[in-house]
Formats: sequence, structure tokens, C-alpha cells
Amino acid sequence: MKKLFSVLMAVFIVFSLSSCGNTWGNDAQTGDVKPPGKKADIVDGKPEESPEPVDYNKVKPNELGQVMILMYHEIGGKESEWVRTPDNFRKDLQALYDKKYRLISLNDLLDGNIKTVAGYTPVVLTFDDGDLGQFKVKMVDGRPRPDPDSAVGILLDFYKQHPDFGKAATFYIYYPLPFREKDYIDYKLKFLAENGFEIGNHTYTHSSLSKLDGNGIEKELGLNVRHTQDHLQGYDVDTLALPYGSVSKEYAGYLLKGSYEGTPYHNKAVLLVGANPSKSPYDAEFNDLKVPRIRASEMDVEGLGIYDWIAYFDKHPDKRYISDGDPNTVVVRKDMADKVNKSMLDAKKIASY
Ligand SMILES: [Zn+2]
Repeated sequence: MKKLFSVLMAVFIVFSLSSCGNTWGNDAQTGDVKPPGKKADIVDGKPEESPEPVDYNKVKPNELGQVMILMYHEIGGKESEWVRTPDNFRKDLQALYDKKYRLISLNDLLDGNIKTVAGYTPVVLTFDDGDLGQFKVKMVDGRPRPDPDSAVGILLDFYKQHPDFGKAATFYIYYPLPFREKDYIDYKLKFLAENGFEIGNHTYTHSSLSKLDGNGIEKELGLNVRHTQDHLQGYDVDTLALPYGSVSKEYAGYLLKGSYEGTPYHNKAVLLVGANPSKSPYDAEFNDLKVPRIRASEMDVEGLGIYDWIAYFDKHPDKRYISDGDPNTVVVRKDMADKVNKSMLDAKKIASY
């Protein structure tokens, strides 16, 4: 365990510049590859069935390719390093959609339950800190609804216009006031859970875990879970985004599981702050204890923001995760077959071409 964490605090910047030798890139940019089946079969961005077999040589699935997990903070106000305006957030969603990315939940990524349509690339959205602009209430006919200019409202609206994009995001909140409107905490947490979004652990007080010992970490993580479960009985808070992206090596094991005053917690993945795409969950080198994220920003990201990585994958389509459309089959290129993490396969089949 210690070894796994020995590089937890390091910043990983994987910027492979090897050139790509196939021609898939043109398809990626122009959308020439058609998903299997009729449009009516696609619900929630996922195919219910693949009525036609996928031609691997045409679709070029690459389920060992990399996946972007985007990290947002405040939505609203004036654009800055950690703030995205509503219009820029809409622009991001449109850019992802146009470039053939489709939303999946973090849990589906971690579980290898990737139902993204053949030829398309899964992408995960995460929001840290539970700021007001992520989920603001607007009263409509006397009832609270997500403000259409808050992240949740924007996501719902985009999904309505583009149902094949999917609808998923994980919100990493802390207490005592997630989303900053005290009368609506309960409404918001229930709304998220009931509408396909996930709620993750961002500690109880947004504490830097690198300054705490094991007991301190247990208190921060356990209290977060207890408070979320006060609103959502039995809710499984199972992923953690590290505030400030760090923890001391000595106590890193406490991130995975522990308990505080009778409230147990567990995390199946620990998300870092920055700075590159994640390896595929099927890749033997994928490490769920240090999952990197990409800063969804265009300011002060030193060439490593969302549009830099979108451009990178346009230029290096062979690095990008391309789904075969079937969550039960992991399809990889022949030269990469030995890189698959066999323990992720369970009942899945592996296919190469
Ligand atoms: Zn934070």
C-alpha cells in the first residue's frame, strides 16, 4: 500500500508526443463514424442493444485509450482561474459533444461499465467545493428548481437538447453549507441523487489532509459521509477528491476506509488536482488511488487545460479511448492486448484486432 502512495503527491504530466500512424483522426473530427443502430435506440447516451455487429476496423475501438476527467470549481460570475462562466461551461459541453465525447458517471468508469456508443469517447465531469453557481435554486410556480444558469441547470438543458450526450457529473461537497443556500441543502442533495448525478467526499471542512494524522483524516471523511447520509439515508459516498490534491504518505491508507464515531466510510477512488487524462480503467497501470483530472479552465493552465487536451486528442487520436459500444467486451488493438488489467475483466470478454 505504501508503495502505491509513494508518488501520490507528485504531479503527473504525461505528454506523449509520439505521432499517430492511423487515419482514424479524420473520422474523429468530422463525425463520419456512425453509431450502430437507429437513433431511437439511444437512451441516455447509451445504446440499449447493438443490433448490428461493430466493424472494429472501421470504428477502431481503443478501450485502453485515455479518458478525460474534467475538474470544475465555481460556475458563474467573472471568468478566472477557478471560475467558469455559465456561457463558457455551455461552450465546453458543446465542444465535447461536437468532438464525439459522451458523458458517463465516474462510477461507471471505475467499474468498467462503459456503455458509450461505438466510435465515441467517454468523458467524466467533476465539480469541487459545492459553490452556489454549481447548483442554485430558482423558484418556479412556488417550487424550487435548478437555476438554468447554474451547472446543474445547464447540464439538464444541454441533455434535453442533446439526449445522446448523456447526463452525469460528480459533485464533491463539504459542509456545513454545500451549494450555499441553507434552506435548500436537502432539496439539492436529493435532486442530485434522483437525477443521475453523484455526490462525492471533499472532506467535512475542506481541510488539507496533508496536515492531519490518521484520526484527523477519519474525522474529516467520516463526518462528510454522516452529513450526506443525514439527507440521503444509506447513500454510498464512495469517491474522494482531495482538497489541495495532497495527503501525507504516512496516513494515506486512511483515505480508503475508516470510520468516525460509528460512521464508516470507504472510497474506491481518490481524485487528484490536475493535470492529465486518466488511463483507461482496463489498463494494468490504472491506479484508482491517484486518479488525475484535467482543469476545465482556459486561464493559467499552462497548456494543460480542457482545450489543450481536446486538441491533443485531435492530433493523437490513437491515444484516445474509443468505445466499441458493448460494456461486456473490452476491445483493444493487437499490439496493446498484454496491457489489459485481467482482474477488471470478470465476465467480460476481451477482443483485439
Ligand atoms: Zn476543494
